[in-house]
Amino acid sequence: VAIAPTNPLREFDLIERLCAKLPQGRRTILGVGDDCAVLAPARGRQVVTIDSMVEGIHFKLAWTNPEMLGARALTVNLSDVAAMGATPTACVINLAIREGLNAVFFGRLYAGLMQAARDAGVDIVGGNITRADQLSITITLLGEVGDRLMRRDRARVGDAIYVTGTLGDAALGLRILQGQVRARGESRKYLIDRFLAPSARIAAGKKLARLDPAPAAIDISDGLWQDLGHILDRSNVGAEMEVDAIPLSSAYRAVNGDNPELALRGGDDYELLFCMPPRISDAALSRKIGVRVTRIGRVVAEKNLRLIDHGRAIADRSRRLSGWDQLEPSKA
Ligand SMILES: [Mg+2]
Repeated sequence: VAIAPTNPLREFDLIERLCAKLPQGRRTILGVGDDCAVLAPARGRQVVTIDSMVEGIHFKLAWTNPEMLGARALTVNLSDVAAMGATPTACVINLAIREGLNAVFFGRLYAGLMQAARDAGVDIVGGNITRADQLSITITLLGEVGDRLMRRDRARVGDAIYVTGTLGDAALGLRILQGQVRARGESRKYLIDRFLAPSARIAAGKKLARLDPAPAAIDISDGLWQDLGHILDRSNVGAEMEVDAIPLSSAYRAVNGDNPELALRGGDDYELLFCMPPRISDAALSRKIGVRVTRIGRVVAEKNLRLIDHGRAIADRSRRLSGWDQLEPSKA
């Protein structure tokens, strides 16, 4: 398709044609093409979330391909819905486009986005395109949930703190892309993929929400230290976390050794962090929700967050103790 990249209106035409193939199921009564989309009434409660990915802040085009970028823009929203224990249903997309990107690029970005939507059972029901100085993709995602949902303000003293999967992989992948860390072979590929092509823990989130009582939960987008802090603040409690318990992948260990700093402060893993009474073993809980979970600490009454290494506190949230310069997140 020969369309000059300097003719944005023609590009809009092409995107409109691409939008004719948007994934839509029975819940969508009226999709793209009218002033609003029209959806059938939800079966349960509805959740809604929004997230943006901005060029230069959250990604660089040199790191990724358009399909992965489109898929990732939806995944970061899917992860928020997963953290509530909800089922994602429908989304609308705002695309801010800049000069220098052509219709083929946006066609590929939409192809990745549409595939991710199909995989998650999400209808794309509307969108908006605007001109801007930077490329950005903003998605508003709807989901459905029954009476049981996971909130950040439900952690109780005595709860155990768990995470799904392994942490720090995406942050390490980002540093490899930035040239700050060197890695080769399978480990390099695995870690970069964890940053560029994350997956949301939707099935695990839904299974967790059905437990009684439903756990307090959050998805790890900003980093373990920061996101656990959000749960503690909302629940008005504190926590102790065992540094040796933080789950690291073999690829992470191969590249970064046992240093857990990136697993603590690095974001973008999109794993779930949740708090609930420790009634069953990690192995039994992992089988129950279909993904490996690891117990990393406990909820306590004193409103602080302490990192424990062999029985000694080595860092805390008040920063009176700090084993690392800072445990706040770092972004691309
Ligand atoms: Mg979140």
